[in-house]
Amino acid sequence: MEGFYADLEQRLENLREEHLFRELKSVTGAIGKWVEIKGRRLLNLSSNNYLGIACHPMLKTAAIQGVQQLGCSATSARLIVGNYELYDQVEKDLARFKDTEAALIFNSGYTANVGIIPALAGRGDIIISDKINHASIIDGIRLSGAEFLRYKHIDMVDLERCLKKAEGYRGKLIVTDSVFSMDGDLAPLPEIVKLKEKYGAVLMIDEAHGSGIFGENGRGLAEFYEVTDRVEITMGTLGKAFGCSGAYVAGRKVLIDYLRNKARSFIFTTGLPPSVLASVQAALQVVQQEKWRREEVLAKAAWVRDELTEAGFNLLNSECQIIPILVGDNAATLAFSRRLFDVNILAMAVRPPTVPLNAARLRLTIMATHSNEELAWAVEQIKQIGRELAII
Ligand code: PMP
Repeated sequence: MEGFYADLEQRLENLREEHLFRELKSVTGAIGKWVEIKGRRLLNLSSNNYLGIACHPMLKTAAIQGVQQLGCSATSARLIVGNYELYDQVEKDLARFKDTEAALIFNSGYTANVGIIPALAGRGDIIISDKINHASIIDGIRLSGAEFLRYKHIDMVDLERCLKKAEGYRGKLIVTDSVFSMDGDLAPLPEIVKLKEKYGAVLMIDEAHGSGIFGENGRGLAEFYEVTDRVEITMGTLGKAFGCSGAYVAGRKVLIDYLRNKARSFIFTTGLPPSVLASVQAALQVVQQEKWRREEVLAKAAWVRDELTEAGFNLLNSECQIIPILVGDNAATLAFSRRLFDVNILAMAVRPPTVPLNAARLRLTIMATHSNEELAWAVEQIKQIGRELAII
């Protein structure tokens, strides 16, 4: 028995030596654009609450009403007796929002991806995936048992090479993030759609960071690129721009009927509680009514990117509210984050395995509710500390 714990301790020690040990930071009070950690009030440049609606009065009121009317639990899996009518309503609302025939709610984006992918592809099929797709997509692919090819990030020549190699497989599924969670760059969806049509593949996109942000109606990057009806499977999350929790897949009715029958992470789990569903319903209204939020977040992020690029930081090819500041070394990235913490800015370090080796970075995220003054102040602090640490 003692050997088991000693082995774990040794493994943790190895992580510490590589500056990869992780600890939780506990937040006192609500998580808004300002957060309180260890008695310090910090400007929050690290949450995915992009539109700043997690504490919106409409969402809070809806959640409270959800509890009062229905209680605190779905009490069982949705296919047993956990399927509140509210679920059907919110799925209809989501389908209308995404401009698809139907939608299905999952408990999180992670469980959506590990459920959807193995339901759609298995032995005899092949999945082609962007090299830096989110971990939940990779785990879904592993679970599926299908053959697996990775193409170089956003490289359409390499995607075509993979599609040629995939000749002869029963089903070919291309999967990509629409907005990449750690780099903040965008998948070239029009080109991907053309290639998948040329080679007879099916396309699944993960709009975790695109929904609520891109497109005339905030539907996501597929709307922005006007390719919505050429993408077979769209999933997105509800814990980021929507300020709630959970995830959905949207598409044709036959796809949704199939996933309801086959996605194991949908079938074998207790449904989300009514409070969450009610808040999602309110969030959908807010996202559609308060268009200024997505306009503001993208405009403010563009300003921050211009300032930091001009100062000499490497922001990769960020084109959205997610702004990586590439540092490389784990220890240097942690030092940068700590120094910012000391001046009351929360800018979390992201290290391997979340990002590739030697590609540690700060991942800044902008919110619609950050004021221009707050961002200008943060940018000045980042530049000053970046110079002191010889990052620029
Ligand atoms: N897909 C992507 C691209 C993500 O960035 C994330 C969350 N970081 C997820 C899926 C998982 O979503 P959730 O947090 O709802 O599990």
